[in-house]
Amino acid sequence: MLDGKVALITGAASGIGAGTARRFAQEGARVILADVQDGEGQQVLDEITGGGGQALYVHCDVSDADSVREAVETGVREFGRLDIVFANAGINGVWAPIDELQPEEWDQTIAINLRGTYLTVHFAVPHLKRAGGGSIIVTSSVNGNRTFSSPGASAYSTSKAGQVAFTRMIALELGRDGIRCNAVCPGLIHTNIEERTEHRDTEKLGIEVELPEGSPALNEGEGEPVDVADTCLFLASDLSRHVSGVEIYVDGGASLLR
Ligand code: NAD
Repeated sequence: MLDGKVALITGAASGIGAGTARRFAQEGARVILADVQDGEGQQVLDEITGGGGQALYVHCDVSDADSVREAVETGVREFGRLDIVFANAGINGVWAPIDELQPEEWDQTIAINLRGTYLTVHFAVPHLKRAGGGSIIVTSSVNGNRTFSSPGASAYSTSKAGQVAFTRMIALELGRDGIRCNAVCPGLIHTNIEERTEHRDTEKLGIEVELPEGSPALNEGEGEPVDVADTCLFLASDLSRHVSGVEIYVDGGASLLR
């Protein structure tokens, strides 16, 4: 489905990014893997190339303009073009009551999740235009769009809601260039993100909502990275050629029950 296409994926060393990189490579894309975790990124690269896929790994901190510019240029130099951008790198950051969340903690979450999305798109767009069009996919979340029940997640939720507004604006702005932009909003997905999260003093907020019992099609618990990857494959490919400016919830319907 992606033969001849080149895809840039940020946060590609782990979880949803790694799963999507494998999926895109299986479908014929050449994949630029970008992350700060070089060892893990190298492992994903070895797995893809070992299976006959084409990829390259670049160190890239999405919150740093020079780093993103360099990563995009390195990838395009190697593969000659860019058609698909998956702005996926993100952190949960520190979850804490608002009067305890420190300014630098707020800034870090916004810098990686929101500024990182802007920087990735900013440096990639000239290459998409040169390719005559393309597809941008942004990883937002149910959190900040449909579900607001995670105690202490004010910075995270704000960044995720901001990504959806950004997605719509970019879709509007770049439609005339043949560039589509959509967001995926995962629910709970089985990745490493939770173990990197600092939960501080959130119990006392008491706003965690238990999911009510639902039908098996709803509320079926954690999804896997491949569930998001398959949705991204749809958004990256021509199957979604008439789809732009939307967010797709990949949560098994769970957020409808909240
Ligand atoms: P993950 O921690 O497994 O993977 C995230 C990757 O992003 C890691 O490899 C990490 O090194 C990378 N990263 C972090 N900061 C970076 C930076 N400054 N520059 C470049 N790379 C950086 O987590 P995941 O669950 O796969 O998360 C991917 C995206 O999905 C995030 O945007 C996250 O907010 C979103 N998301 C995840 C879930 C979930 O339940 N797992 C739910 C909703 C949204």
